[in-house]
Amino acid sequence: MEYTFPVTRTATPKEKPDQKALGFGKTYTDHMFIMEYDEGQGWHDGRIVPYAPLQLDPAATTLHYGQMTFEGMKAYKNPQGGINLFRPDMNAKRMQNSNRRLCIPEIDVDLFIAAVKAAVKADIDWVPEEPGTSLYIRPFIISPEPSMAVHPASRYIFCIIMTPVAAYYEGNDKELHGSHIWVEEEFIRAAVGGTGFAKCGGNYSCGMIAATEAKKHGCEEVLWLDAKEHKYVEEVGTSNAFFKIGDTVYTSSLTGSILPGVTRDSALKLMAKWGVKTEEKRLEIEEVIEAIKNGTLTEAWATGTACVVSPIGLLNYKGTEFPINGEKVGELSQKLYDTLYGMQTGEIEDPMGGWVVTL
Ligand SMILES: *Cc1c(COP(=O)(O)O)cnc(C)c1O
Repeated sequence: MEYTFPVTRTATPKEKPDQKALGFGKTYTDHMFIMEYDEGQGWHDGRIVPYAPLQLDPAATTLHYGQMTFEGMKAYKNPQGGINLFRPDMNAKRMQNSNRRLCIPEIDVDLFIAAVKAAVKADIDWVPEEPGTSLYIRPFIISPEPSMAVHPASRYIFCIIMTPVAAYYEGNDKELHGSHIWVEEEFIRAAVGGTGFAKCGGNYSCGMIAATEAKKHGCEEVLWLDAKEHKYVEEVGTSNAFFKIGDTVYTSSLTGSILPGVTRDSALKLMAKWGVKTEEKRLEIEEVIEAIKNGTLTEAWATGTACVVSPIGLLNYKGTEFPINGEKVGELSQKLYDTLYGMQTGEIEDPMGGWVVTL
């Protein structure tokens, strides 16, 4: 099905920020996509409108009970001057899964992708072109329905906002560095049966306390352990975690408490194509620490849309620092970053066929 959306252009375009000092989410573009859901009518009236505050009833259930879901994607300017999206169908499907868990009506995959494309097209001159920069895209759904009762709403708003963002790695965009990671033993992110596999607001507000603790110990991010036994490694902050031990790369299986990252899936598929042995399984933190000590763990990294690939330089576990690979960036981490980032920006050809969607 072909979707077209009416466009209302802003009468007061903003001045675009300096591409060399973008930060993350400091300025939003001139337009946004918005669409409503009403029971009996389904999703309707998708349109592009000038970026503006939403008017919400103070009793909107989304503000009280957190019925909301979101996605995170990036658009890059390619060398031909066009715009690349990366596997947007994966984001569309993941939002459907998140919605099912949060009792929010699903959005058709084609409608989601058409909405993202329409939003980016409306602000195409906002896609930055400095190396490493991109247009970060944030689709999200909230319930504006006023109610104090705890039950799924009958009305929703789907909105897509966009913000030009800096290179994740400052200075030279290609210069990865090993980050210091705090192994969190007290607080947990998500439990099996909960919402860990869904991108919903509550998962992030409950994680902030651990991130604050990590920073106090000089660490940039948290390595989450499983909720039940605090024994198995799950994720790093808002990224999926990988550990190379011997000749095998491990990442946690999708237990229900893990967010199924698009970058995680892409990394697994690329490594399989390269003949690298990979295994999705629950890995004990004690096994990881032992492997660092005996030198069999040679690389670890995190994957996510924001960072693409972020090498792990050191784990801080029970007050002891365990450097990995002398805190140097590993060969496979670098190769994955170069390939994924190269594909996303269009600097190298899509070896998987169909992952890069051009606007
Ligand atoms: C978004 C997210 C990821 C990474 O997913 P990508 O699709 O690769 O961006 C990993 N973990 C959590 C908790 C996330 O929210």
